[in-house]
Amino acid sequence: MRMAENWIQEGKEDRNVNCDKCGAMIEEMEKARFRGQILCEDCHMDALSPARPCDPWAVYTAKSLSTQEGAVSGTQEKILKILEETGGVEPNRLAEMLQIKMAELEREFAALRHMEKARGKMKDGKKIICLW
Ligand SMILES: [Zn+2]
Repeated sequence: MRMAENWIQEGKEDRNVNCDKCGAMIEEMEKARFRGQILCEDCHMDALSPARPCDPWAVYTAKSLSTQEGAVSGTQEKILKILEETGGVEPNRLAEMLQIKMAELEREFAALRHMEKARGKMKDGKKIICLW
């Protein structure tokens, strides 16, 4: 009985959770559920992207594709330009500047990250996107 009660209480205590994948602490606000998992922003972006960073073949393919075709999409090009000019911006600010939805930005960013053109990093306690 005791264990069951504890379990229920823990289930209610849903403020701070850990990412199912990397174990990072996630705030309630930015908690993202993905296919039954709770993922932090990073892992969520990874999960959204078709290629996994731990898959060398996927990174290789993305790299060779980008060299062969020299191609990033129009939006990706704009992202890179902004990152170059600003030295890195917060994701929501970037979405605002591009006038696109966060979901769209995440998709583009995931693609750029796999091409090793852009990456996320922490600056003054804030997460920003900057050039690779
Ligand atoms: Zn994570």
